[in-house]
Amino acid sequence: MSQFHCSCGFAIDHVEELADHLHQVFASDDDIGIDGRTHHELTDADPAKLACVCGYTANDIAELDDHLLIAFITPDAIGIDGKKHVLTDPSTRDRWYVRRTIDE
Ligand SMILES: [Zn+2]
Ligand SMILES: [Zn+2]
Repeated sequence: MSQFHCSCGFAIDHVEELADHLHQVFASDDDIGIDGRTHHELTDADPAKLACVCGYTANDIAELDDHLLIAFITPDAIGIDGKKHVLTDPSTRDRWYVRRTIDE
């Protein structure tokens, strides 16, 4: 049994792959987040420093990934494919669930 289950049916063991999945279904081509601001990793910054172009800074890549996901996940959790993407296992550890769940 996989560790992470998305409500669209996607199941995976690795949090990195889950993040990839969520990026694919929520990230917009123009990098504009749900707050109307642009969010993508600031690559020309000091490599030891992780930052988003919106001004957010992170201590590690997981923190930055969280920020980028939260910036793009819509309040209703409906991805660009029209399906709902929320983790279905409430026992999931980690910070992927920092945002408030909106029940159907
Ligand atoms: Zn940002
Ligand atoms: Zn999904």
